[in-house]
Amino acid sequence: SKINLLKMVQRSVNQMEAAYLQKGVSLRIDTNQPLWMEADPERMVQIVMNLLSNALKFTPKGGCVTVRIQEKEEHIFLVVEDTGIGIPRTDLSKVFERFYRVDKSRSRRLGGAGIGLTIVKKLVEAHQGTIWIESEENKGTRVTIQFPKSFHDHLH
Ligand code: ATP
Ligand code: MG
Repeated sequence: SKINLLKMVQRSVNQMEAAYLQKGVSLRIDTNQPLWMEADPERMVQIVMNLLSNALKFTPKGGCVTVRIQEKEEHIFLVVEDTGIGIPRTDLSKVFERFYRVDKSRSRRLGGAGIGLTIVKKLVEAHQGTIWIESEENKGTRVTIQFPKSFHDHLH
């Protein structure tokens, strides 16, 4: 069914707001207008929550996280950007692998099983989307998801 992506982003942000406040990381939505797309609302919230959870976990106090949605030609873009610790270049291609975490000691301290991004990628692909990550160590990370505007719903 057609869902309002902005509404799903707002719902995810609301769910995460307390945790962000508690850690002292700012969270904002950089968008002005609703954006309609064919998608499963629960899965869309799950995608955004996973990305917001990562961004929070790997961004130190005082940093900021931005969610952006945007329509461009035949695509819809969903971007989550943080000013966190980043991902080393050599690990970038592996973070979508099941149970993969950068730097075991760092990850053990911060918690997590290393499956969030594996699930996100599956959900994105179920919506015929693609996902990629750009990152710079000690600067931050940007996760971009691209969905086609027209989509044939295979989800039930
Ligand atoms: P889980 O999601 O299962 O709780 P996790 O967050 O460690 O555990 P993923 O979400 O799959 O697992 O992420 C895999 C790894 O990619 C993380 O352990 C972390 O090393 C790295 N990573 C993911 N997102 C970020 C980010 N925004 N900034 C820095 N590193 C990240
Ligand atoms: Mg995660």
